Amino acid sequence: MSNTPQQQAGEPAEQNQIDSYRRKLLGGGAAIAGAAALGPGVFFTSVARAKPADQAVSSEVRWGFLIDANKCADNCDKCVTACNDEHNLTGFGRPETDAQWIRAVTLRDRKTGHTTKLPMMCQHCAHPPCVDVCPTGASFKRADGIVLVDKHICIGCRYCMMACPYKARSFVHETITNQQEYSPRGKGTVESCTLCVHRVDKGEIPACAEACPEKAILFGNLNDPGSDISQRMATEASTEVRGDLRLDLGVRYQGI
Ligand code: SF4
Ligand code: SF4
Repeated sequence: MSNTPQQQAGEPAEQNQIDSYRRKLLGGGAAIAGAAALGPGVFFTSVARAKPADQAVSSEVRWGFLIDANKCADNCDKCVTACNDEHNLTGFGRPETDAQWIRAVTLRDRKTGHTTKLPMMCQHCAHPPCVDVCPTGASFKRADGIVLVDKHICIGCRYCMMACPYKARSFVHETITNQQEYSPRGKGTVESCTLCVHRVDKGEIPACAEACPEKAILFGNLNDPGSDISQRMATEASTEVRGDLRLDLGVRYQGI
């Protein structure tokens, strides 16, 4: 396709918070405790689309999104707000550098000039350039396809930001306070969409998908032919943004 994305748009975190986060990332160990805390309705709906709470991270699963741009209203930013709220991404009045893990993007067809608005976050590439260029191994991909940054060993070189074709990553310039324990952040490190791994590991769906009133963001297991997301991808057309890069994205779109 000929579309190109156009954006319209301290102190390190407490050691114990990062250690806790790292254990969850590497081991998927948060699973059981989280499931017990869910309300009945949330539990059944979520588990149908995210992983069973007692299941470890496995390459048999690949998490992803199918986003229907046709359902995305021009004036809606509920997914962006939900992400910001979930991860306490407060701005500093500097839109150029403020963290935004999901943002409204306008794609323009070079031939026709037709534009489409869609939400864009880290595409959780199967062959992630951000991981390839990271000199310390801080950028990594989990067995289930979720691409993350280990804040322990990120040195803030920002090579990954330059390598990402989707401008999905941002650098933390300011001292961060009031952060969520499950989503630690630190000045001098790089960050991006975590696919709400803290939710997924509890059998829940990501905050942006949950918040969308039009159900435009469908989350699920791309490796399971019986999942809602796979079934829809098998019967309806969808595409990757900049599929020509052959990064095998975890996020696919409809209506572009
Ligand atoms: S979209 Fe960018 S940050 Fe996300 S996995 Fe791909 S290269 Fe890395
Ligand atoms: S999956 Fe979570 S972190 Fe990623 S864009 Fe959605 S709300 Fe933000």
